[in-house]
Amino acid sequence: MIQVSSVSKSFGNIKAVKNVSFSIERGEIFGILGPNGAGKSTIVNILSTLVRSDQGDVIMDGINIRDHGDAVKLIIGVVPQEIALYDELSAVGNLMFWGGLYRIPKSELRANVQKTLEIVDLVNRKDDQIKTFSGGMKRRINIACSLLHQPKILLLDEPTVGVDPQNRNHIFELIEKLHQEGMTIIYTTHYMEEAERFCEKIAIIDVGQIIAQGTLKELRKFSGVKDLLTIKLADASHVTIDRITSENPSFRFDSASSSLKVECGNVGNDISLVVGRIQKSGGVIDRISTQGTNLEAVYLKLTGKELRD
Ligand code: ADP
Repeated sequence: MIQVSSVSKSFGNIKAVKNVSFSIERGEIFGILGPNGAGKSTIVNILSTLVRSDQGDVIMDGINIRDHGDAVKLIIGVVPQEIALYDELSAVGNLMFWGGLYRIPKSELRANVQKTLEIVDLVNRKDDQIKTFSGGMKRRINIACSLLHQPKILLLDEPTVGVDPQNRNHIFELIEKLHQEGMTIIYTTHYMEEAERFCEKIAIIDVGQIIAQGTLKELRKFSGVKDLLTIKLADASHVTIDRITSENPSFRFDSASSSLKVECGNVGNDISLVVGRIQKSGGVIDRISTQGTNLEAVYLKLTGKELRD
């Protein structure tokens, strides 16, 4: 559905996007994860034809955006970071205004306005002025604006920044609803948990470059991060620990937590093996905890840094 090939963009001597390539299947949610300044908005702006890339090609639904920008605008919906609504107008007033820019016939537009208000779950506030809406509700109306012309592809640029938890959940639910209906979605974020929650594929981006991309499973494999088993023994005497670690050199004793740490390729497969080995070496297990490799561990391994606000 979307092919981005070797796209680069500089602003003066700032290389905002460097040789970025990815492809997205129809109906997929593709996450672009990276810190502020990584180049996420620039990619969204290139895909939405607001910014022209210096190099590379973008094909959306078979259309090369370089040659057919206007045709592409009809099949994409864009939710920019900045909210663009008129405070004095009602929700319906705003939607009719923005929809009018797409030259949708009035009766069809009215039906689309009603439908998008249902999607973002704000029908009950449709006649209220936008200035009475919370930040999160405004963002939901902003999303509704991007859906009025019934696009095939939705580009969302950090849609939950500054949104309270309740509205955040509303946004998550509506993205999941659009996904179920078959929408192809690009979702940029600097929140790990969002990328992990619903992006089927994730591109990790840092200083304009994609460091790795794929499903979470593929990223885990690529990063080489392992699951971790932490085992607390009933008897953590020197003699017992020494016997276990000498018979199992890959088992590490962590004196700070007074527990054994064992890295596994897959906890589910390896746990019984590890338990058996400890018991064979004379260890009595008190407690076991597992730590699966989440996106955070993968990100840290690949970029060497934490992802902060
Ligand atoms: P993100 O969305 O990941 O926060 P951006 O794409 O907004 O990152 O920015 C990437 C880099 O490009 C940053 O260094 C930013 O300052 C720079 N940049 C973005 N847009 C412009 C612009 N119009 N003019 C100059 N520099 C820009």
